[in-house]
Amino acid sequence: MTGKGKRFVERIWRLRMAGLGLGFFCVASVFVQQGRGTLLWALLVFHGFIWPHVARRAAHAWAVPYRGERVNLMVDSALGGLWVVAMRFNLLPSVLILAMLSMDNIAAGGARLFMRGVAAHLVGFALGLLVLGFAFEPDTRMPTMLACLPFLIVYPLALGWSTYRTSKKLAEQTRTLERLSRIDGLTGLLNRRHWEDLLAEEFERCRSAHYASSLLLIDLDHFKSVNDTRGHPAGDAVLQAFAALLREHFRVGDSIGRYGGEEFGIVLPGATLAEARAVAERFAASVRMKAQEAGTACPCTVSIGVAQCDETMPDYAAWLKQADASLYRAKVAGRDRVVAVHGDAA
Ligand code: GH3
Ligand code: MG
Ligand code: MG
Repeated sequence: MTGKGKRFVERIWRLRMAGLGLGFFCVASVFVQQGRGTLLWALLVFHGFIWPHVARRAAHAWAVPYRGERVNLMVDSALGGLWVVAMRFNLLPSVLILAMLSMDNIAAGGARLFMRGVAAHLVGFALGLLVLGFAFEPDTRMPTMLACLPFLIVYPLALGWSTYRTSKKLAEQTRTLERLSRIDGLTGLLNRRHWEDLLAEEFERCRSAHYASSLLLIDLDHFKSVNDTRGHPAGDAVLQAFAALLREHFRVGDSIGRYGGEEFGIVLPGATLAEARAVAERFAASVRMKAQEAGTACPCTVSIGVAQCDETMPDYAAWLKQADASLYRAKVAGRDRVVAVHGDAA
């Protein structure tokens, strides 16, 4: 968890200010009716208005603030039990306070924290009975009902809103992670795994819809010498510059992936072998020109193997294998060229 729960502490701090601030008036109205003593009033004011800030500081002082906050929630639950006894079990505020505290505990830690919260309520009851003794006056009068209304209405709205915002943030983070898991870190192109998934999908589409689709496998020529003469970081920069060339040259619908170290794959949906070869030739020529420019960011030429999807192929791996065989031929034939062969000719 980011910051070991620092954001969680901040979220609970705001909710606690709202909840305990409003809860104060529920208990206070009963205390007024019953004429309770100074000490209880002092504790109530402390819990309602000072404790949220103390709890926030205390939680941040923990090595894992999230854990500290769970302890704070148990303090809230125990004090909640104490207030029920102090109010002599006045029905509406008692039920309201215990229900709201339980809702907090479930929202923060599921069934486990809820059960611990129940235990903390019991500790609070016991402490209350020990210090204040037992008295039972469950009737709730109108002033107390009115004092409970803001808590009853505002707090669930605040918790609901806060939960909604948290889950929205989580959904955004999940989307970002999903996107990152598909992207190659160095070049920003699709990574091999995701690119192969798209290739497999395209293969199935080709077979079921009986239309042409082609695949290019592109390998930089003598790339190793860039690393050897200029160093690995310079080699990385060349790969990034090359990725930019790919993005410039190919269409939005073409899937461009980094297949290996300095090897790239491109799926051209709907392209026949001849069309794909023409596209590849144009790209190889533009890379060649770029490589000859003075101070170029991409000093390598490329070898390209082209293969068209074929209904006789058992799976997409066969398609890939054929493109790889063409690429190998381009290398053997002297590099800086395109090889596109049909079927078994490869
Ligand atoms: P060929 O024309 O036969 O393709 O020669 P080559 O030197 O390009 O081919 P080879 O496969 O021998 O070398 C590829 C090199 O690419 C080897 C490896 O160190 C380098 N390489 C692979 N991934 C990266 C990378 O992420 N960054 C850098 N800088 N180099 C990489
Ligand atoms: Mg190479
Ligand atoms: Mg290679």
